[in-house]
Amino acid sequence: MSKVEALPPLREVIAQHELAARKSLGQNFLLDLNLTRKIARSAMPWTDATVVEIGPGPGGLTRALLLEGAPRVIAVERDDRCIAALQDVIAAADGRLVVHAGDALETDFAALAPPPWQVVANLPYNIATPLLLGWLAQAQNFTRITVLVQKEVAERLAAKPGGKTYGRLAVAAQWRAEVRMLFDIGPQAFVPAPKVTSTIVELTPRTKPLAEAEPAKLERVTAAAFNQRRKMLRAALKPLWPDADAKLGQAGIDPTRRAETLSIEEFCALARLM
Ligand code: SAM
Repeated sequence: MSKVEALPPLREVIAQHELAARKSLGQNFLLDLNLTRKIARSAMPWTDATVVEIGPGPGGLTRALLLEGAPRVIAVERDDRCIAALQDVIAAADGRLVVHAGDALETDFAALAPPPWQVVANLPYNIATPLLLGWLAQAQNFTRITVLVQKEVAERLAAKPGGKTYGRLAVAAQWRAEVRMLFDIGPQAFVPAPKVTSTIVELTPRTKPLAEAEPAKLERVTAAAFNQRRKMLRAALKPLWPDADAKLGQAGIDPTRRAETLSIEEFCALARLM
């Protein structure tokens, strides 16, 4: 039995460190090691990157990453109670695990380990989207991102044109990465149980974005288009261009179409006209 396998059960760790879950920190813990090992395996094969886990909490997924052979893991956690609880995992990891105390939104990964990074995490639901958008803005530094998020967020990340869930998030994510939903995890797997189903989603950064565009311009075009998603583009894009009809014509896009029908390449064509 390895030192990690010999660690006390997570329920004991939680009781010993009085880790009552805090809603403000998006704490919903996974205690079933079979499940956390399944999540770790879904992130494999390990790339030649440092594995970064956000929010290790009491360490269920962290243990699984170590047991599934992740060569180097850096875990970023902002709850001091969890940092204390993780000390035994650090000791059992024989140098493969570093825990960084801090806010993941503010953490410069490069100060912890040189890129590339491979993220595997059960993300705090309240900051999942800003974290993902921040990573995608430097997508070349990530080999793969495998994260557990609310199913609704996974659907918005993976959405294809034509549906209700297709919007700014899908364009921002799929412009830079291939997005795949891997499997769902029901509320009962977590302590405490959240209200909604969660999904493991995988983002594999593209070597270069799907089509040429400046990020800020693409963001402005998609914001304008989807802010009024029921309107025809000729009306929705008026705030950007008084002569939206002409611009759409230049991009070869029928001005009577609606935002949700546009491909990412078409949004990029519009961004290039700005
Ligand atoms: N990985 C653990 C698991 O699967 O059982 C815990 C996951 S829980 C959904 C989210 C974790 O992220 C919590 O441990 C919480 O304290 C931590 N967290 C919340 N906000 C954070 C932030 N801004 N930076 C770093 N960690 C954060």
